[in-house]
Amino acid sequence: MLLMLRGSGQKALLARAEECLLAHRGDNVFYRGLVEFSNICTKDCLYCGIRKSNKNVERYELPHDEIVESARYAWEHNYGSLVLQSGERCNPAFAEKIDHLLRDIRQVTKGELGITLSLGEQSLETYRRWFNSGAHRYLLRIETTNRELYRQLHPRDDKHSFEKRLQCLKYLQNIGYQTGTGVMIGLPGQSAQHLADDLLFMKQFDIDMVGMGPYIEHEETPLYARKEELWPIRERFLTALNMIALLRLMMPDINIAATTAMQTIDPVGREKALRAGANIIMPNITPSNFRKSYLLYNNKPCIEEGADDCSDCLSLRLSLAGRKLGSNQWGDSPHYYKRIKR
Ligand code: SF4
Repeated sequence: MLLMLRGSGQKALLARAEECLLAHRGDNVFYRGLVEFSNICTKDCLYCGIRKSNKNVERYELPHDEIVESARYAWEHNYGSLVLQSGERCNPAFAEKIDHLLRDIRQVTKGELGITLSLGEQSLETYRRWFNSGAHRYLLRIETTNRELYRQLHPRDDKHSFEKRLQCLKYLQNIGYQTGTGVMIGLPGQSAQHLADDLLFMKQFDIDMVGMGPYIEHEETPLYARKEELWPIRERFLTALNMIALLRLMMPDINIAATTAMQTIDPVGREKALRAGANIIMPNITPSNFRKSYLLYNNKPCIEEGADDCSDCLSLRLSLAGRKLGSNQWGDSPHYYKRIKR
């Protein structure tokens, strides 16, 4: 199976994917400044370090003005786009808060900064409201498209339903968002066949953007009890590279992120992901004093640096990967524009 290629076979696959990326999308890498503005979450996913039941997490929520300032920072530093991410909360006050934020960010950045949301499952009305207030991309990771595996990763209740996740992705597409998803790679109980099915799902669902990476365990989660079943860490990483490369070959015009989880395993993991067909990087511009509290998994990198350190380090990393920054551009997925014309 192509997903499990290693050695010279894998090298050829990754080179082919890089060629495909350069031919269809050029050598630009686009930044999405990431603001993890709150780690408060009402859900209890069994793999997640900030799940509601983890009492060891110090919960935080950035003040409104600080989030807007982070957006201004991204705009002034020519990032082109911003991602607002938090734990999942689905209530009228939260919907209102985000609406207010979107309007203020658009005002401060003169509508020039692209805005992606990653705020979990919401109602159709809420998604629509945020779209009308200026968000134009939404990232909702399905984590795995295998229903049984999904059940093993979540509490068995209505709040954590696979069908609901799928329904939300459909809402997002129908409203007109550039719609992104992603999966974890190397979970306990996951097979290469599951991952191949994940790639087919992304193609069949006509997804516009993808953020996927190796699963990294967190000690304070129920899934950690199954650590004996984990894929070896290097295998998770190498398979993630193949997932990126194969998806690039299957969908040449989408956006694929080089995720932070790649860098957690390999110090140049994100650069390797870029060379395998990824074209998006999400520099963390969350004020550094809060980053330690947004640990979805162990050993997350760049939690000490300030935003400036992060952007300097990334510029250097890009040039080492032979790529350049698509400065001040939204870097939309051409796939999206083709999809909405159909
Ligand atoms: S994965 Fe997301 S929704 Fe699930 S517990 Fe973590 S932050 Fe909450």
